[in-house]
Amino acid sequence: MQKLTGIPASPGIAIGRVHVHMEDQPPVPRFSVEANSVSAEVERFRQAVERAREELTKLRDRTESVQNGTNGDFLESHMLMLSDADFLTKVESGVRQTQRNVEWVLHEETQSVVRKLASLDDQYLRERSVDIHDVGRRVLNHLMYRERISLSDLTREVVLVAHDLLPSDAIDMNKRMVRGIAMDAGGKTSHTAILARAFEIPAVLGLKNVSEEVKVGSRVIVDGSRGVVIVDPDEDTLRDYREQLSAYRKREVQLMSLNDLPAETRDGKLIHLKANIEIPEEVDAGFSHGADGVGLFRSEFLFLHAGRVPDEESQYQTYRQVLEAMNPRPVTIRTLDVGGDKVIPSLINYPEKNPILGWRAIRFCLSRPEVFRTQLRALLRASVHGKLRIMFPMISGVEELNRALEILDEVKQEMKAASETFASDIPVGIMVEIPSAAVTSDILARRVDFFSIGTNDLIQYTIAVDRGNERTTYLYEPFHPGILRLLTMIIDNAHNAGIPVGMCGEMAGDPLATILLLGMGLDEFSMGAVSIPEVKRIIRSVTMGEAEELVGTVMDMRSYVDIDAYIKALMKERFDVRIY
Ligand code: PEP
Ligand code: MG
Repeated sequence: MQKLTGIPASPGIAIGRVHVHMEDQPPVPRFSVEANSVSAEVERFRQAVERAREELTKLRDRTESVQNGTNGDFLESHMLMLSDADFLTKVESGVRQTQRNVEWVLHEETQSVVRKLASLDDQYLRERSVDIHDVGRRVLNHLMYRERISLSDLTREVVLVAHDLLPSDAIDMNKRMVRGIAMDAGGKTSHTAILARAFEIPAVLGLKNVSEEVKVGSRVIVDGSRGVVIVDPDEDTLRDYREQLSAYRKREVQLMSLNDLPAETRDGKLIHLKANIEIPEEVDAGFSHGADGVGLFRSEFLFLHAGRVPDEESQYQTYRQVLEAMNPRPVTIRTLDVGGDKVIPSLINYPEKNPILGWRAIRFCLSRPEVFRTQLRALLRASVHGKLRIMFPMISGVEELNRALEILDEVKQEMKAASETFASDIPVGIMVEIPSAAVTSDILARRVDFFSIGTNDLIQYTIAVDRGNERTTYLYEPFHPGILRLLTMIIDNAHNAGIPVGMCGEMAGDPLATILLLGMGLDEFSMGAVSIPEVKRIIRSVTMGEAEELVGTVMDMRSYVDIDAYIKALMKERFDVRIY
């Protein structure tokens, strides 16, 4: 038995067998081929192409029967590429002429096509580069005898172990088969952690080298609440964890009994508790956990899933689906927040030195107005099907905000001129997640209808600590006095301007922070749906007076260590919050 400690990223307990998800891009072998082995090398390539084709056929058949053809389309185009005589001949003659091994030639050829396509002005052709990359990788895997088990293909229940998972891997995995996740990399607010919580999959991240420590098929326990992974547990440990698992489930059921009750303090202040979602299917979890609406729909996952910019019609259908399902509850849809760790190679295809500080979110949208306008048109068209609120991410100052509002207005005018209908009363808000926006929130508040505080990024940028880096997690501290001062400043500035202020960063769903945020005057808490019942229980057990008193005490403290200890003791003793 071996116990590994990491970062508790998604609560709950999972017991299961290990599946190690391999890195997507192993090094490509490079060697010379003897003249008399060239034909065998070409034959190896043909066989790998054939196996890749068979694999795609199977995938396409399965996908079409499940998802009315949308994904089948891109698989079809991948199959066409594998039959493209021009491409196949280039690789084969490359092997003959250079006498290099086929992996090498194939890799160079696909990279050269990818680079050419990625530099074109035509958006459609540019987006094809990701398909070429994907097809090339699929054949490479067959050449290297790597079984390319996509996470969407998992057919038995496993605990997923990986060095790192891209958000696009996580969004595509077969959620019913993944009982738990253990990863070398990642922090509590990395996007993989957020998705694990959204899918209610217990997860421990930041384990540093778990992917090397465990063997495929061995039994592990993932304790996502404590941040512990136990490899090959003994019988006593296993029994103990099975008991804990059943107690955990019992508590969940008890909390669910609060679903139909309002999130109201003992002295009658009503708070809105909403769900954060990444895909439309999560709306059901919102309902089953008593959400008053969607406070954050991370629309970029639609783009990540497609690997490209979805056309206006498919965006419209998705937004409409969520709005209709939630109606009359409000749905806040955040415009595209790509970049940083949410990479779509066909959109952002050159390396950045500092992607987290780089070309992301609203910066990307303002410099690619055709992408932004398409999304805004789809949103406006969908607005007649429910209560839409539009939110811009990563606003750093008033110029960016003004430009985004201008484009929104232009799109509205164009639609009016074309007699296209949209709701007349769509509130527009911003995420406050960059320190410069927090500090100028008095100015920004005059230009919008609401604020939503994105603590995940606000903490990252204020403390200058990468939210996904397991080595610096100890610095990522929501109760840092610098963060608390910014939060009170944003909330007070919003209220002085007469607009409501919510929070959709992970801090909103942290039971330890509930009373503090309540006392600061936060109007809306939006979080992964699973967290709603516990936050509601706490809100229903306190008065505003008590909450404001806590804020008074804490704001006088100087160190986050003291604040953390004080809040933990209070929340444990007085509000029965579990401390792990
Ligand atoms: C945030 O930054 O707090 C937020 C909610 O946005 P994301 O986690 O998607 O960056
Ligand atoms: Mg953010």
